[in-house]
Amino acid sequence: MANKNGFTLWLTGLSGAGKSTLALDLKNKLLERGVEIELLDGDEVRTNLSKDLGFSKEDRDTNIRRIGYVSRLLARNGVGVISAAISPYREVRDEVRAETEKDGAAFIEVFVKCPIDVLAERDVKGLYKKALAGEIKEFTGVSDPYEDPLRPDITVETDRETVDQSSRKILVELERLGFLNGSVGNVNYTLAAARR
Ligand code: ADP
Repeated sequence: MANKNGFTLWLTGLSGAGKSTLALDLKNKLLERGVEIELLDGDEVRTNLSKDLGFSKEDRDTNIRRIGYVSRLLARNGVGVISAAISPYREVRDEVRAETEKDGAAFIEVFVKCPIDVLAERDVKGLYKKALAGEIKEFTGVSDPYEDPLRPDITVETDRETVDQSSRKILVELERLGFLNGSVGNVNYTLAAARR
């Protein structure tokens, strides 16, 4: 079947960095513009598709490959996909990118960046205190690795930006790639476009 050019927005970052929040905000903004969106949230996937998996490197990689597989099937059929999972390992993220691009869909890696001290302070899910106290083994960023993207397509810094600002950065890129019809409707768009 001919490729209908969907895309995958791949949000990667530590727990509490803002992936789910951004994904929801983006989903709403994109739906308003008539872009069909499916959201794959890491926490949700772990309660169904990946219920059988733990947090070893092997299981984490399997989890990401599953999310990557589903997102790829959707993206190659014209759907806009937002994945919001920690996805700590570079190699598997790159693998998902390669598979997605091989199918002719776009893969946009978004590094959702936030320093660990801010995350510990936010402690959205109450996990950092426990992890820092040594009570959680294999907690990403504390007792388990997180490999920063080397060349993310977009970096959002959630300790310095509002949710709306971070979302708009991403919308600007989608616009540039031709996935939105109208303008993002913000002066930042013109500025960002001029910088390129
Ligand atoms: P994750 O999905 O990465 O585990 P969450 O989205 O559950 O993280 O939590 C992120 C927290 O950070 C929320 O309380 C959110 O309101 C806050 N936050 C502050 N600034 C931003 C931003 N620019 N983008 C996303 N979240 C932000």
